[in-house]
Amino acid sequence: MAARAREERHLDVLAKEVGYVRKPHGGRLRVALAFPNTYFVGMSNLGFQTVYRLFNELDDVVCERVCLPPKQALAAALSSGQPLRTIESGTLVRDFDVFAFSVSFEWDYTNVVSMLRLAGVPVRAESRTTHDPLVVIGGAVTFVNPEPLAPFADVIAAGEGEELIPSLMSAIAGASDRDELLRRLAAVRGFYIPSFYDVEYASDGTLAAFRPKAETGAPPVVKKAAVKSTDRLDPPSTRIFTPDTEFGSRFLIEVVRGCANLCRFCWAGYNYLPVRAFPADRILELAREARPYAGRAGLVSIALCDHPEIERILAGLLELGYAISPASLRLDDLTPSIVGMLHQSGERSITIAPETGSDRLRRVINKTVTNDEILEKADLIFANGIENLKLYYMLGLPTENDDDLVSIRDLTAQLRDTMLTHARPKGRLGRIVASVNPLIPKPGTAYQWLPMEDPALTDRKAKRLRTLVADLDNVYFNIKSERHSYYQALLSLGDRRVAPAIEAAERNGGNWRAAVAESGVDADFYIFRDRSHDLLLPWDIIDGGMKAQFFRAEFDKGLREQWTLPPKRAAENRKFLPVL
Ligand code: SF4
Repeated sequence: MAARAREERHLDVLAKEVGYVRKPHGGRLRVALAFPNTYFVGMSNLGFQTVYRLFNELDDVVCERVCLPPKQALAAALSSGQPLRTIESGTLVRDFDVFAFSVSFEWDYTNVVSMLRLAGVPVRAESRTTHDPLVVIGGAVTFVNPEPLAPFADVIAAGEGEELIPSLMSAIAGASDRDELLRRLAAVRGFYIPSFYDVEYASDGTLAAFRPKAETGAPPVVKKAAVKSTDRLDPPSTRIFTPDTEFGSRFLIEVVRGCANLCRFCWAGYNYLPVRAFPADRILELAREARPYAGRAGLVSIALCDHPEIERILAGLLELGYAISPASLRLDDLTPSIVGMLHQSGERSITIAPETGSDRLRRVINKTVTNDEILEKADLIFANGIENLKLYYMLGLPTENDDDLVSIRDLTAQLRDTMLTHARPKGRLGRIVASVNPLIPKPGTAYQWLPMEDPALTDRKAKRLRTLVADLDNVYFNIKSERHSYYQALLSLGDRRVAPAIEAAERNGGNWRAAVAESGVDADFYIFRDRSHDLLLPWDIIDGGMKAQFFRAEFDKGLREQWTLPPKRAAENRKFLPVL
């Protein structure tokens, strides 16, 4: 009975999908591709969809998906020991050759552990044998700081899937056993084998060395793998459509990879360089093919307008009858034509990230826009019929003071006034929603040595900001709690000694306070310590392409309140940028 019910559940999922791949397993390398969150979340994740496509494009590979069961089903499966199976064929995950994870968020680390447990695969790499699948962990988080996940991975794939997947497959094809495979992979760009390193610590608990073990061939530092050019690449896009996902009616597509702005806090900006545009013709061709299944195109890029043909792409999507939803837009490149096309497609809301209300503080963090320009572009946005604005601000930025908090209120009030000026004659008021998050210093950025701000101080600032904005009509402020960010910072800044806290949090249902206490991890050590004198950082094992020297120079330049202009903007020599 249970088997039949399970079979029916799998068939139900597949019956609602368009675009999944079924291949016979015989003679093929079998990859179970895991998204460490629910199906509902995973099927709207472009990384997950793209890795699935890349694996299945190879004839000699069959790749099937597996997601974390929803809360109740997860609890039932964990207590009954019901093993994890793939969506496509209902095969036991532990019977696959490779168990590959695509991890995009730190909060999903506990889910990686749950899925290993559910699959019946030993959670720690050191406990696995050659009868277990090879556990490969990849995804955005792993090329920023993979160390907290290191004890769970046989292999960490650091970088971009387009480059890593063919290399992984040819190493597997050429190796006669697991040991040889790991040695082969260690020699390939982008593959980090955590068990090939002895990690040494100084007496104060800081990292002293990653020492490659003898005869493993492991390099002192693993270079991230990234595609050189996207000129001939298929852009990541939704290939499997289902109504049972967060963005069910959306065709998601990556238009351009990277952002040239070099904001000093932004790991995505630094880690996806250089900026690479996907071919406009192929974007439109994929959009045409997807049109029967989706009415809205979600453009997933951190700097959409860096695509040299963005206007042609938007016009093409409009012509296909899509409503268009961009991710956050960088203000400097917004033109009347772009905003006009977004409005024409039915979009009523635009998201922008001023980060702070003060021009001074924006020079510190290298967000190269000024309040004048933000207001000018807001005028353009509202004049072109967009009714709502979503804003992102941060608290706890270096050198931040009370004037900067007041400036958040002042800028938001001015934006609100701009909105009202355009809304009143039409008799339709929109709204402004502002999200305020504490800064979490990120690995691979100019702020990687910074401690997180004292929570008591951030709480005081949050309280002050709430008071400042309390009487702003038509504006809704959502100011995030410090506690939430604290544990995210631990996962972001930690090393492999944090892994026991991840395991404990997985066991106790996500009670991080108890997990940290139980595992004896000194979270403050990772979060509130000034790392500027550390000789080695946990994420230094991955070379993301930017040098520490550059980050240090950027940090100092920030303290001098100086921009580092992206080349395009430097060439424009725009009048609003003060020469410093
Ligand atoms: S503009 Fe946005 S995406 Fe680009 S570097 Fe700055 S914060 Fe990151």
